[in-house]
Amino acid sequence: MRPDSRVVLVSGGAGYIGSHVTHVLKLAGFSPVVVDSLVSGNLWATRSANAFRQGDVGDRDFIRAICDEFRPVAAMHFAAFIEVGESVKRPEKYFTNNRDKAKVFFDTLAEKGGGNIVFSSTAAVYGEITDSAPVREDRPTRPINPYGQSKLDAESHLRGIGNVKSVALRYFNVAGAEPSVDLGEAHFPETHLIPRIVLPLIDAPKDIRTALGLAAGFRIFGTDYPTRDGTAVRDYIHVMDLADAHIRALRYLLDGGKTEVFNLGSGAGYSVKEIVEAARTTLQRGDFNPGIEPRREGDPAILIADSMKAKVTLGWGPQRGIDRMIASAAAWHRSQTYAETIVKKANTASQ
Ligand code: NAD
Ligand code: UDP
Repeated sequence: MRPDSRVVLVSGGAGYIGSHVTHVLKLAGFSPVVVDSLVSGNLWATRSANAFRQGDVGDRDFIRAICDEFRPVAAMHFAAFIEVGESVKRPEKYFTNNRDKAKVFFDTLAEKGGGNIVFSSTAAVYGEITDSAPVREDRPTRPINPYGQSKLDAESHLRGIGNVKSVALRYFNVAGAEPSVDLGEAHFPETHLIPRIVLPLIDAPKDIRTALGLAAGFRIFGTDYPTRDGTAVRDYIHVMDLADAHIRALRYLLDGGKTEVFNLGSGAGYSVKEIVEAARTTLQRGDFNPGIEPRREGDPAILIADSMKAKVTLGWGPQRGIDRMIASAAAWHRSQTYAETIVKKANTASQ
């Protein structure tokens, strides 16, 4: 059966990043079909999809049936668990979902004709970086937690499949939202820096702040790092810039590009204190004074991407800066969709 040149399967498209990419795929003229078990995703986040099918990427018959029904020309694989801390406590949960089920998904697509796969990888595959130089793709990969290892294993398996061409995109720190279409990050629990700064600053309802462990406000984890101000430095990228990179990676593969791996970041590092300062300015909250806690276990001091390869090969570069990440996150976190989602997830978790 010939593939439909517009259909792109999006696993995990009910999640944060997958939902934004689905929206942009649609704008770019593709026909995204979302496959998601809803284990942590949200049905509302699939609204831009041409079709949604609920199921598990590790269910071979389910994926076979999807391939027969839609004949996708390509797939994007976002479906995964994403909490580093939890992966240390429950490694099997991560190896089963992020490695073993990813393998079933890739192998089933290969069995159904192969094609093109864009995979969500992560800077966590690099592990502990001991210098401050931006990280290139040829750095050794030495994950320091099961999350990073499970993603690296999936990446390696994908690269080894004969009749599949793939692009692994190693994201650095993703932030921001697209509130104009009511999309954004609705993780529960929420561990990421920008939402944890923004929620107290926009005076989010008390039940939401309490459910997310923010009742006492935002806290900086560690001020004794060997960095310019003692707080950890990261490379932040807007989720819509990330979505643009996915479209470019897809077109690259469809135009005959070979299997590749690309880092996606801005090349600029911001310390936690610098993000706090940016939030103060952007949200006009000069009164914001965060608390301080010891370092969070496993957090490296500095992680900055060298994304030159994506620039040269995909013509990609980030267009949206920190201010826009913070402002769009603030608008999204004020939305009714966000509030209702977190209240519902908190209630389910407490049952
Ligand atoms: P998310 O939790 O918001 O979305 C993941 C989605 O996958 C959810 O909708 C969930 O229901 C679904 N899912 C999980 N396991 C599934 C399975 N077995 N079958 C079907 N559906 C399943 O996560 P996100 O933040 O959007 O991250 C997406 C991808 O990006 C992940 O692969 C993650 O490793 C990678 N990544 C994320 C970040 C980040 O900052 N969020 C950074 C680097 C890499
Ligand atoms: N961080 C913090 N307080 C918080 C959440 C995060 O100080 O409430 C710090 C965290 O220790 C790290 C940086 O912010 O140094 C980015 O954390 P995030 O979880 O967003 O991304 P990571 O780089 O860990 O994937």
